[in-house]
Amino acid sequence: MTRLPLLLCVLLLTAGCQRTDTAEERPNIVFIFTDDHTARALSAYGSVVNETPHLDRIAQEGMRFDQCLVTNSICAPSRAVILTGKHSHLNGQLTNGQLFDGTQQTFPKLLQAAGYQTSIIGKWHLRSAPTGFDHWQVLRGQGPYYNPLFLTAGDTLRIEGYTTDIITDLALEWLEHGRDTARPFMLMYQHKAPHRQWHPGPDHYRLYEDRDIPEPPTLFDDYANRASPAADQGMMIARHLNINDLKLQAPGSMNEAQAAAWEEVYAPRNEAFHEADLEGDDLTRWKYQRYVKEYLRTVAGVDDNVGRLLDYLESSGLADNTVVIYSSDQGWYLGEHGWYDKRWMYEESLVTPLLVRWPGKITPGSTSDAMVSNLDFAATFLDLAGVDVPVDMQGRSLKPLFTGETPEDWRTSHYYHYYEYPSVHCVERHYGVRTSTHKLIHYYNRDEWELFDLTRDPMELRSVYDDPAYQDQVAALKEELQRLRVQYQVPEDERPTGPCIPDNRGVNTAAN
Ligand code: CA
Repeated sequence: MTRLPLLLCVLLLTAGCQRTDTAEERPNIVFIFTDDHTARALSAYGSVVNETPHLDRIAQEGMRFDQCLVTNSICAPSRAVILTGKHSHLNGQLTNGQLFDGTQQTFPKLLQAAGYQTSIIGKWHLRSAPTGFDHWQVLRGQGPYYNPLFLTAGDTLRIEGYTTDIITDLALEWLEHGRDTARPFMLMYQHKAPHRQWHPGPDHYRLYEDRDIPEPPTLFDDYANRASPAADQGMMIARHLNINDLKLQAPGSMNEAQAAAWEEVYAPRNEAFHEADLEGDDLTRWKYQRYVKEYLRTVAGVDDNVGRLLDYLESSGLADNTVVIYSSDQGWYLGEHGWYDKRWMYEESLVTPLLVRWPGKITPGSTSDAMVSNLDFAATFLDLAGVDVPVDMQGRSLKPLFTGETPEDWRTSHYYHYYEYPSVHCVERHYGVRTSTHKLIHYYNRDEWELFDLTRDPMELRSVYDDPAYQDQVAALKEELQRLRVQYQVPEDERPTGPCIPDNRGVNTAAN
């Protein structure tokens, strides 16, 4: 440590000052983040629907976490949890509709104070301007898949092309020419893909053209033996995908040349669909194939671009002292329970991928089944940088887990709370607790409960909440839920107002 930073640390006595590591030893951090990428579409997790060779490199050369659970399975709230290390009720971002309070404590600000150069490129999705970043180039709102507009501190910039490629171009440009090579950096490289409406890049239009994607066993779930909310949502492949989702018309953001290239591939496909005049389960199966292939094509675009970034880290010599972390803002449904989208505390949307590569520190090809969370990311980034984790952050650094050992006092239960109701897809508000074997969920607006035995019923098809054999479990988990609510300072339930009407303008027959 040089004299000047040491002096500043002494004078300011802030938690943001580095501890004992020298600047030379502090690693760079590259956080690769996607939107809505389920681990079930990542071959490092054993995907049966696709291959992701470049993302897999991070797992092969690092650690795969098998139980990374989000606290609130939706986009903007997950991002706020990651920035603050606090649950939604404390960081204020309960739903997508709110404005993120960028004046509050976030890990990028603390990294900056410790001498890190902080940069975010790609999807931000928090409505307020980014704070705590030396450099930011972010999509406005969701951002389109083609010809996106980027917001920066000084200007806005529209760039022609495919958004996933462009975000990578900008990240590589910053790494090569934008950063201060005398300081460690934190780069948040964040994709819009594979978020709805799943528009692939031209390179991938024909991927999976000649094969069917396997259907999940619960594609035709009837929602029996569960509380009432599961049947009352608006996110069914059979009923709620619209013509844009199903690519029965061209993406709106394309220029003329892009639209012509798109039409060349999709017009014959759509003609064949209309001629087939499908109905009932056959129509649902067609929708599933169309939807999942488009989703997986956008994932392929991410995977190729992650390969470009990893290659740059190698060729530039940065790889050895750079921690590369891959995650997504939550999980996602690829037809499980008949659904697309996220929101639920059920496994598919609760679990998010987490891969970490740190050369020389993490054993290549290792795995961890510790119960970790996006709540832990902020503390982890700070710990990697040698910065003390503020006591009001609610997560815990994952750095000790990188050795392959799980600390004895690591958490054995996880608190979850989803708030966005009434809103799109009409998923009821709920909170709950998950252990490694059971999950208790409370839909508090209806005062209905579910209990799942994850060992016997991993697909969560039968709630045993009312089963006499499980009443000890119910009592114990209610007690644990209450303990977590007190520990995390959760206020009393906030009741929603007004009814929720599912958007039912889906493609129900071949005629529309
Ligand atoms: Ca998301």
